[in-house]
Amino acid sequence: MTLIDVLPLTPVGGPSLPQERRLVSAIPGPKSQELSRRKNASVSAGVGVTLPAYIVAAGGGVLIDVDGNSLIDLGSGIAVTGIGNSAPEVVAAVAAQLAQFTHTCFTVTPYDSYIEVAETLNRLTPGDHAKRSALFNSGAEAVENAVKIARHYTGKQAVVAFDHAYHGRTTLTMGLTAKNQPYKNGFGPFAAEIYRAPMSYPYRDAGLDGAAAAGRAISQIEKQIGADNLAALIIEPIQGEGGFIVPAPGFLPALVAWCRANEVVFIADEVQTGFARTGDMFASNHEGIVPDLMVMAKGIAGGLPLSAVTGRAEIMDAPQVGGIGGTYGGNPLACAAALATMRSYETEDLALRAREIGAILTGRLNAIRAVDKRVGDVRGRGAMIAVELIDPGTGDPDAALTGRVVAAAHAQGVVLLTCGTYGNVIRFLPPLSIPDDLLIEGLQVLGSVLAAA
Ligand SMILES: *Cc1c(COP(=O)(O)O)cnc(C)c1O
Repeated sequence: MTLIDVLPLTPVGGPSLPQERRLVSAIPGPKSQELSRRKNASVSAGVGVTLPAYIVAAGGGVLIDVDGNSLIDLGSGIAVTGIGNSAPEVVAAVAAQLAQFTHTCFTVTPYDSYIEVAETLNRLTPGDHAKRSALFNSGAEAVENAVKIARHYTGKQAVVAFDHAYHGRTTLTMGLTAKNQPYKNGFGPFAAEIYRAPMSYPYRDAGLDGAAAAGRAISQIEKQIGADNLAALIIEPIQGEGGFIVPAPGFLPALVAWCRANEVVFIADEVQTGFARTGDMFASNHEGIVPDLMVMAKGIAGGLPLSAVTGRAEIMDAPQVGGIGGTYGGNPLACAAALATMRSYETEDLALRAREIGAILTGRLNAIRAVDKRVGDVRGRGAMIAVELIDPGTGDPDAALTGRVVAAAHAQGVVLLTCGTYGNVIRFLPPLSIPDDLLIEGLQVLGSVLAAA
């Protein structure tokens, strides 16, 4: 089968797709299974697939696969298509740019959309101090650059990351990432001068409040590294892959205060939490923290690859000319998409929509938790909500149950993702364009497959 075989039947994506769950074959269907055979024969086995239904169109809250099934999207391609797949404003902006020019390399001959993205990020991110931005391609690349910039500015080398952290899969960011399987196993050695501190994990750290959890982390940092050697502390304000862990109130502000007092650059990794996802433009806003540097990607450009570091002008301006950049960073198609995307987050108040989605998610999931002791915790903010599944007898994480539930939901046409250090967290990251009834149907499927598991 080639693309030509698929195309005549392929619907155009975007919000005009029928917003319904519709199964016309098993999931995955025969055409997807054939594509899986080709994938296994051509793509590196290290590139895994969560749900092998091959997609031909998407929009609103649905993904259409090659067999004609319409799946409910509760993952947004991992928090990327916040404004929806093939959002019309993004399609129009990218198409217009596509007809003008596709690439020059901003660091060779520049163009204005890169500047406008930087201006927009400088305005949207927390704090009213002077800021600068730099654009890259992936979250991991932006994290790497934030660390480079912090080291250059401080003249120091050590970096602290936290338990359960996820910052990417490149050599430096693998070191920052906490979880061995599947992200690090066999890929060492890792970069030097990376240290790990304990996180605030309210569900599993026995009532330690935010201040006490920060004190525990700071005391370990001072004893084992010393602020004199520490360039930066990097943290996700709500941890993503680690299990949607929302630290106890006060934890993040205490870390920021300590960093400021000790000339340590505080880096917020908002790659997953950014851009309205948590019910505010950035998760840092919920605790009123102002990071020195903020790393963004995923939701920034409606699905086109773009990432950014935004931060204090004096820090961002520290590296030598030519020290920061890359061939594709701030590609004009991605910048056009980002401008259209960021405009939608603001003008359509998608943070409000994320809070509405959050209310539906937490309401329904807490109702399940009230009658099913295997649901140990419901947590998160806005449209970034998760449940932690446990053995009710021991409280231990139940990864096997989690795997069964998610597989059953997939078979019913609901795209669900897992996460968590212990593999026992189901995370909900619906596109903010999903209609309420579709979201509720997805949660009903989850409820029935959980009851049956
Ligand atoms: C996804 C993610 C990254 C890595 O982004 P890539 O674009 O996959 O490199 C980094 N940090 C966080 C918090 C993420 O969720």
